[in-house]
Amino acid sequence: MSDTTVMDKLVSLTKRRGYIFQSSEIYGGAGSVWDYGPLGAELKRNVKDLWWSRMVHQREDIEGLDAAILMHPKVWEASGHVEGFTDPLVECTNCHRRFRADLEGVEAGQCPVCGTKDAFTEPRNFNLMFRTFMGPVEDAGAQVYLRPETAQGIYVNFLNVQGTARQKVPFGIAQIGKAFRNEITPGNFIFRTREFEQAEMQYFVKPGTDEEWFEFWKADRMEWHRSLGIREENLRFHEHGPDELAHYAKKAFDIEYRFPFGWKEFEGIHNRTDFDLARHQEYSGKRLEYIDPGGGERFIPYVVETSLGVDRVLLVLLADAYREEEVEGEERVVLALHPRLAPVKAAVFPLVKKEGLPEMARKLQEGLRRASIPSFYDESGSIGRRYRRQDEAGTPWCVTVDGQSAEDGSVTIRDRDTLEQIRVAMDQVAPWIRERLVDSE
Ligand code: ATP
Repeated sequence: MSDTTVMDKLVSLTKRRGYIFQSSEIYGGAGSVWDYGPLGAELKRNVKDLWWSRMVHQREDIEGLDAAILMHPKVWEASGHVEGFTDPLVECTNCHRRFRADLEGVEAGQCPVCGTKDAFTEPRNFNLMFRTFMGPVEDAGAQVYLRPETAQGIYVNFLNVQGTARQKVPFGIAQIGKAFRNEITPGNFIFRTREFEQAEMQYFVKPGTDEEWFEFWKADRMEWHRSLGIREENLRFHEHGPDELAHYAKKAFDIEYRFPFGWKEFEGIHNRTDFDLARHQEYSGKRLEYIDPGGGERFIPYVVETSLGVDRVLLVLLADAYREEEVEGEERVVLALHPRLAPVKAAVFPLVKKEGLPEMARKLQEGLRRASIPSFYDESGSIGRRYRRQDEAGTPWCVTVDGQSAEDGSVTIRDRDTLEQIRVAMDQVAPWIRERLVDSE
């Protein structure tokens, strides 16, 4: 299977099964913006819930935050984004398309769209922040930005959170939210888009302990990705060399995944030093120091950041879970998503549409609904077709009500990955699933 085929197949499967749709499709689509359908919305929510649970609920030293997208414009001057958040841009003088100057192919002087050679303009810096206006007057004084990262909302609230939650350094603040970047060359499905979501955590530490904490978070984040079932051989670290380091970073590692289009970053671990807090202190004129309750020592903490792209990790999970297999002489496509991530946990089928089986199956599904287990009822088509639909959607368990169910109250549960079938009492299906979801945590 060629790499483009895998991506094409993923795009069409995710559309067919209601994971991801192109934004404003009926108008021909909006450039590189995507909408999550019923299954995609569940998958995204599951990823965010697992991240939040690991980062916030399971730790004493991390607090949650939900800061606004629009912020005071000075924030972006202090952060360096007004001045430095740019990509070099070139334009092809033949077809007038614009590209990132560092894009493969463009670097060599050939236009990836029309193929013309050496027809690019000189590179010009292009700011990636989206601009808009606050209030009715559209002048420079009313200009604001859509945040290009969620981190700044955390820095400006550092003392609010520390004081109200009574945290002591070291401690962290976690946030999930939308970010916007006017990318010059978006693409590769949901890999690089102009509107996306980030799950970021800023960990505030005493200067001098930052390197230790950097190592801790680097290992912890990689371990989390493994726990989601992402295959080891498709994960690796990439350390930023001096020419790759962002203006704020002392050290940075990317966690990379082997996408069908090559090894690429989907999470960054950054040692941002005291750059951001010191700059906000300077630009706002407000002290952003931490006072140690022990000795009264004052200092501006260093920050270790973990920055995950939610949409990008979704692409990682979908690409990693996509399998084409042969089962009993027939081909099947399966999304082997971790059960905790799977949008639908169980599909419920009556074997045939008669003998009261649909009624029993619906009753069973009603029980799953009451237990808050996302489920799906399907009575159309052969049982084989119904299994295949669920395999493609990533549903880990299919529960079938058959003739024996009427006699002894048992049903079969078929496992998506092993294809094993076992019989379980109907009233035990919900606890059986619950148990497996907890065990797989
Ligand atoms: P890239 O080099 O791919 O542009 P970056 O180094 O600018 O990424 P960061 O600023 O470190 O990325 O952002 C942290 C995370 O946010 C990335 O690892 C990625 O998962 C996500 N992210 C950044 N830009 C985008 C985008 N345009 N679309 C989707 N996710 C993004």
